[in-house]
Amino acid sequence: MSTSITIHETVASRVLTGRGAVDHVPQEVGRLGTGRVLLVATPSAKAAADRVAQGLGARLAARFDRPAAHTPVAVTAEAMAVVEAASADCVVAIGGGSAIGLSKAVSARTGMPQIAVPTTYAGSEVTPVLGETKDGVKTTRRDPALVPGTVVYDPDLTLTLPPGLTRTSAVNALAHAVEALWSPTASPVTDALATEAVGGILTSLPAVLDDVADPEARGRLQSAAWLAGLCLAQARMGLHHQLAHVLGGTFDLPHAELHTLLLAHVMAFNRPAAPEAFARMERGTGGDPVVAVSDLARAHDGPTALADLGVPADALRGIAERVAAAPYPNPRPITVEGVAGLLDGAWHGRVPG
Ligand code: NAD
Repeated sequence: MSTSITIHETVASRVLTGRGAVDHVPQEVGRLGTGRVLLVATPSAKAAADRVAQGLGARLAARFDRPAAHTPVAVTAEAMAVVEAASADCVVAIGGGSAIGLSKAVSARTGMPQIAVPTTYAGSEVTPVLGETKDGVKTTRRDPALVPGTVVYDPDLTLTLPPGLTRTSAVNALAHAVEALWSPTASPVTDALATEAVGGILTSLPAVLDDVADPEARGRLQSAAWLAGLCLAQARMGLHHQLAHVLGGTFDLPHAELHTLLLAHVMAFNRPAAPEAFARMERGTGGDPVVAVSDLARAHDGPTALADLGVPADALRGIAERVAAAPYPNPRPITVEGVAGLLDGAWHGRVPG
């Protein structure tokens, strides 16, 4: 009898991709057999939301334009009051992980079907995960019913993402694929998705940063980020995500920027223990993946060190102790000294190596 069984679970969703795909949302609402739409959109997605609202006509029951990062339950309560007053029976969310998180929270409370139209590369639209915050405490639940049944990837909606947000959001996506490669729950499917995602993100992101208004390059980056989102959905994440959760939760740090400055440090830390993951990343990038990610992070015009984000130096040891006390599965064994060394490098913004 084998002692190492791999389990791969796929979550079903219908995915539309391509320029102008957002104009198919009203048709997709029709497929659901529902007729009273709650339209959730961040202010950044107002123009697209207005177009969808126009296409929905009388089927638009209500709009909600105040989703917030980390899905605070107080904001969900406000949205639920709107749902009830309008008798909404499905939710369309246009925006980044914040808008899609709110859509999942509403669906979790009502069973309403969801259509997600992502405008960043965060990947929440394809995951069965919802993280909610109450009184500063984040709790996460995982349930296949949370995955939006329909996802609409329209690269034109990402054209307005400024270079800084483009870079950090894409590196956030890259982190899902990198950690899937060294995950103990990796399968042949996640290996294939992650290898393609790493290569796709690292080759298309520089082209997008050269011309953020190039819809073809945006489309390639969005597709690679979709694959990375599927990695997050299907493989357990390791040290990188644990550090992002612990640091982000403790100091209320910006999600994508934190991922961007940490990732190369974690990759350098794990390299000796993850030769197969690195062989795949090298095939995908044609070079040294740590250097590629470190260069991307260091070229960011926002914070490139934990010190710049306001993390106090004297808190690092305590963070290392918390991480080492209950580590996420990671290829290199976690020790307080090891994590403290990694955090020291990230705090100073040193080049990892
Ligand atoms: P976000 O949705 O908060 O958006 C960040 C900022 O970018 C906002 O100010 C938004 O208005 C702006 N923005 C979004 N799209 C834009 C566009 N096309 N043009 C211009 N501005 C735009 O951030 P995010 O990084 O997409 O998502 C982060 C949130 O999602 C966090 O709460 C995180 O925990 C959650 N998340 C959850 C999962 C999951 O699987 N549950 C996965 C990834 C992220």
